[in-house]
Amino acid sequence: MYPVSLEIRNRHVLVVGGGGVALRKVQGLVEEGARVTVVAPEVVAPLDEMAERGEIVIERRPYRGDADHSWNLIFAATDDRETNARVFHDAEETGVWCNVADDPELCSFHLPARVRRGPLQIAIGSAGEAPFVVRRLRQLLERRFGPEWGEWLSSAARYRDAVRDLGASRDRQEALFDRFFRETVDPAGLTARVPTATEERAWLESPVEHRTPKREPNRQTAREDRVGLVSLIGAGPGCPGLLTIRGRQRLLEADVVVFDRLAAPALPTELKADVELHPVGKVAGNHPVPQEEINDLLVRLARTGKRVARLKGGDPYVFGRGGEEAEVLAEEGVPFEVVPGVTSGVAAMAWAGVPVTHRREAVRLTLLTAHEAIKSDGPQVRWDLLAQDPHATLVGYMGVSALPQVVANLLEHGMDPETPAVMVEQGTTSAQRRVLSTLSELPSAIEAAGLEPPALFAIGPTVGHAETLDWVSKLPLAGQRLLVPASRSGFVAHLEAAGAEVVVLPMPATPAARVVMGALPLTGCVVGSPAEVDWLDAERGGPGWGNEFVAWCVGPEAAERARERGWLNVRELGVDADEDELVATIVG
Ligand code: SAH
Repeated sequence: MYPVSLEIRNRHVLVVGGGGVALRKVQGLVEEGARVTVVAPEVVAPLDEMAERGEIVIERRPYRGDADHSWNLIFAATDDRETNARVFHDAEETGVWCNVADDPELCSFHLPARVRRGPLQIAIGSAGEAPFVVRRLRQLLERRFGPEWGEWLSSAARYRDAVRDLGASRDRQEALFDRFFRETVDPAGLTARVPTATEERAWLESPVEHRTPKREPNRQTAREDRVGLVSLIGAGPGCPGLLTIRGRQRLLEADVVVFDRLAAPALPTELKADVELHPVGKVAGNHPVPQEEINDLLVRLARTGKRVARLKGGDPYVFGRGGEEAEVLAEEGVPFEVVPGVTSGVAAMAWAGVPVTHRREAVRLTLLTAHEAIKSDGPQVRWDLLAQDPHATLVGYMGVSALPQVVANLLEHGMDPETPAVMVEQGTTSAQRRVLSTLSELPSAIEAAGLEPPALFAIGPTVGHAETLDWVSKLPLAGQRLLVPASRSGFVAHLEAAGAEVVVLPMPATPAARVVMGALPLTGCVVGSPAEVDWLDAERGGPGWGNEFVAWCVGPEAAERARERGWLNVRELGVDADEDELVATIVG
């Protein structure tokens, strides 16, 4: 096989066939300026439209042996192998290059898979030997080469003209090209940037430099090139909107995501299907992956050159063992970075109406791992200091089972039994529950309410504001966790503003979206067309879908389809229901 790029502008191309495959070929050819004639008894509508716009010519008839030398190139894309074979043999006879779709044996040329970034094209072919790798390689490169490469190439073209205009020697020109490439391309990360006009000018005016000799790749750099980056990312407390912008960016750039159970609701649902997902937290009954294994996994993945996103609940350095993971990475020489997160001890309290500090009331905040209270290996906590500091807030993580012991310790060291106290379960999520009480009463109150981990407690005077500062349970859609297909994302902002947690479902659903759906119970969905109902139906019954699930259907067609499919709770809204009406209907 010998790859070439054809200048196809104004060349005559015959396409036999009028279906979807032919359409894609025709579109690609027309884009490059070819003069295309389609021969087929029937064609799909978009081809008709192209003919109406004068972009192509259609001859509505069966193929009649016209693959001859009046064409520069011929494509056969009918669903009939015999016709395709005839086209190929006719073309062979007259010596015209011919390609039969999906039939490598009947091809005198193959089309490479392409990654395009503006004028930059990367073509991938396997000489027909292993076509299955081609698509996968293309997907890989699609992710590796960001959109910036298109602009970068255009800037390179401008730079080339400027260099040419200098009329310098060949060596000088090459040195200037080297300079451009070196300064704008990061070969390890495969990223490129467009230089500023000032930079370009400086390079063009720089004193003559000798061409940089090619560096001998020494062992050290060769090895470093293969090591990826581990980002220790805080997922925030559970509400997907509380993931940071940088955290989200890193997740979308990652090849692999290693995530804890508490972090699952914050995964971006649009993570591509080929991003590896490693759940390492405790999932219903299964034991969590031991910490040493997580450490090993991170090192191993990074050593294969992957970009690894390690997603942890809240902030990675607050009781999340993030410090231990970072230490191992540092010891092993694996590059890492930390993307802090919103810690649950602060955020869940804000959702529960508790400011963790408050002027004159609480001037100190203690984040405590309550687990220490029930450890036998010596007192690491000065309960006496905590108990005798009335102008402080004490926030306890991992405290459901340890709470009675914590309370006993504080009372024993003289804390006021009437100090306001609260426990918040699943804070900031649609499943949030809170129990308000006093220090001495809190253990029995949470037992009565049946609160379970993950939950946090806060003890201190500012908890006394929890009633007046409760803004969350006042929201009309508080407690709703709604699935919205990506095609209806126009509703998302409104539903969220009304207090619902919204899971945007790409279609088809991605593995990440399935993780998110299953992370907490779903209360319903919003659908607006039979097609959307069908998409969602494929996911129905998965984790997160309970019997209470309500389908809010905009328009009778969606509702009818949902009923046909046997959905339990179908509620219908008018076709032109707007966001306000939708919210009002869900509130009921
Ligand atoms: N790194 C995390 C904490 C990990 S320790 C952070 O910064 O938030 C796990 C403990 O965090 C849980 O036992 C619970 O006490 C607390 N927690 C995490 N998310 C929570 C949430 N949404 N609501 C209540 N408690 C939460």
